[in-house]
Amino acid sequence: MTRIRLLQFNLALGPLDYRVPEGMEVQPGNTVVAPLGPRQIIGIVWEPDRLPAADVPEAKLRPLLAKLPVPPLQPQLMRLIEWTADYYCAPLAAVARMVLASGGALRGPATTTEYRLSGHEAQSSLRLTPQRRLALDALQGEQATMRELAALAGVSEGVLRGLANAGALEPVQVDIDRPYPPADPDHHQPTLSDGQQEAAATMAQAVDAQRFAPFLLDGVTGSGKTETYFEAVAAALRAGRQTLVLLPEIALTEAFLTRFAKRFGTAPVLWHSSLKSTERRRAWRAIAEGRAQVVVGARSALFLPYADLGLIVVDEAHEVSFKQDDGVRYNARDVAVMRARFEQIPVVLASATPALESLQMAESGTYTRLVLPSRFGGATLPAIRIVNLTEEKPGAGRWLAQPIVAGITERLQRGEQSLLFLNRRGYAPLTLCRNCGYRFKCPNCSAWLVEHRLSRRLACHHCGHETTPPPACPECGEPDCMVACGPGVERIADEVAELFPDARTALVTSDTLNTPDKAAAFIAEAEAGAVDVIVGTQLITKGFHFPDLTLVGVVDADLGLEGGDLRAAERTYQQVAQVAGRAGRGTKPGEVLIQTRHPDAPVIAALAAGDRDAFYAAETEARRDAGAPPFGRWAAIIVSSEDEAEAREAANRLGATRPELPDVEVLGPAPAPMALLRGRYRYRLLLNARRTAQVQAVIRDWLAEHRHSQGVRVSVDIDPYSFV
Ligand code: ADP
Ligand code: ZN
Repeated sequence: MTRIRLLQFNLALGPLDYRVPEGMEVQPGNTVVAPLGPRQIIGIVWEPDRLPAADVPEAKLRPLLAKLPVPPLQPQLMRLIEWTADYYCAPLAAVARMVLASGGALRGPATTTEYRLSGHEAQSSLRLTPQRRLALDALQGEQATMRELAALAGVSEGVLRGLANAGALEPVQVDIDRPYPPADPDHHQPTLSDGQQEAAATMAQAVDAQRFAPFLLDGVTGSGKTETYFEAVAAALRAGRQTLVLLPEIALTEAFLTRFAKRFGTAPVLWHSSLKSTERRRAWRAIAEGRAQVVVGARSALFLPYADLGLIVVDEAHEVSFKQDDGVRYNARDVAVMRARFEQIPVVLASATPALESLQMAESGTYTRLVLPSRFGGATLPAIRIVNLTEEKPGAGRWLAQPIVAGITERLQRGEQSLLFLNRRGYAPLTLCRNCGYRFKCPNCSAWLVEHRLSRRLACHHCGHETTPPPACPECGEPDCMVACGPGVERIADEVAELFPDARTALVTSDTLNTPDKAAAFIAEAEAGAVDVIVGTQLITKGFHFPDLTLVGVVDADLGLEGGDLRAAERTYQQVAQVAGRAGRGTKPGEVLIQTRHPDAPVIAALAAGDRDAFYAAETEARRDAGAPPFGRWAAIIVSSEDEAEAREAANRLGATRPELPDVEVLGPAPAPMALLRGRYRYRLLLNARRTAQVQAVIRDWLAEHRHSQGVRVSVDIDPYSFV
């Protein structure tokens, strides 16, 4: 090939053609360096027939500068990138960029110098000081960097350098990225229950068959879904193929790593956004070169260039956090299924509370449903009781009604644990002035500032804006006049401390558990029984397994139902069912108390009755009536600008040329529920379409007619989760 088409990452420019210089071999999928004006850019060589570009005569083409020393992207990954860009109406380059997620790795292998004993240390000319003798003894069979050897031998690096100069230590060039220890599929195989065994065998067979096979692993909380899909992972290991396990939250990885190591003898390879750049390079290279056997990661791990992917698992597949809400707005659960399809491998969606979309796919036979109907080891599902807040009112300034207080009291007496769930960070969601009614509002967003008493600040949960609470009202000047309205988890923890001064309480939110170390410390404490009452946000609703936890209190089950979000009922059901699933996982039975002002709401009634099927049946009908997924489709177009009038006018211009089609309805434009977000004014158009409509094509054609001024941003969200 002498002429290539380059997918480069400057979105304003589009694909460019280059000449391949003498002596360079490139193929589609190669990552290369090319000149652009005076600069150098990186891009991926693409098949020209799949990527239209401006026609530039041969003579004008500039030569490529270099080919980067990484394996070419495989065709199936390139097809996935195209599909994702197409489906989510995102620029191809923006999707492709997610693959090249480590700048360090693109520079290729690098070496570092390690040292080991040369075998010549017995030579007579070597002067043996006591320090040197100590080092020689300690370093038998070792090989590492000078610094590591010095630490190992307990001598200074100077002593070792002397030994190297004398020829007793010899240098060895090794790859700077150390290999990962191998996982052993037979390290510790648990005895599976019959149900687990059957599901595990089905998945393992699919791994061996090397064909596209989507599974819904639908098992109640505590049924041992992890142990079960671990057998599919073992099958992939035995076949020498890679596995990707997607988890919804980094906070969950700690517990996962421990379980994985118990089963396979070593930790998996981690991938998430807060990896250090050296760890990122090491992981990326091991993934691309096929040395990373099992990768556990957040959604961004989905687009990495696996050399030989054999299995994908999406754990807690119903979780909202698999949906990315900025940049490329994709849903990792759905893209995972597409990736499995392009790779021709099985994909497992595991959940106790599947999304209606996933259940529907199982019911229509597109996905194979594997059911684990009961908890492992004879544990029973907890008893669920409704606490009607209109009858059982908590005292003034209190949020816990008598049944929960009594429940905690009992657990404390029995030495068992309780968990209180409220999905609201901070102390109070709204702060106002007692004197004039002034409310503390974010200057950048349509949102109240949330008081965080522990860190003494008022914070916006949307843009990160923070201030310290002022000593007087900024409006009327009245000193000490601030009143906290409504509860956040910090306030619930305060109430617990007042009611039970001797109880040991742990507050679990993304503010307190913000590093893997803190998550590990919390798990260790809770497992050791050093915590009596856990108060937390959605972070504690899933993944954790504390056998002595026997009471779960849901402080406000109505919270999620406000706001009119399309998936509000489903999300409430999932959150409450998941947090309820933390109770009674050991030998002691669990109890769940749900505080609500709407005990008759269908979702609350279904939770109380423990009737999952009734909930899904009712929800299915409601969605069918509303033309909502999976029966119809939604797409959102958000037009934003720092200038209110500019945003409004751009949205109105779009609205004026709305497509008139029988199967697509356009609602709006209207100010978005978050009419101001991070300093930008926002208008929204919503599309509701029949399932068969070509929504993406309609949107692309529609938007292509419009040119907006510089300050206007138009973003498209296909299958949106967030309706703000
Ligand atoms: P789920 O993810 O379905 O809620 P888990 O995978 O967390 O359930 O399993 C619940 C508990 O039961 C865990 O402590 C797990 O280690 C244990 N468990 C599940 N299956 C087995 C098994 N076959 N042998 C031993 N322990 C098991
Ligand atoms: Zn804000």
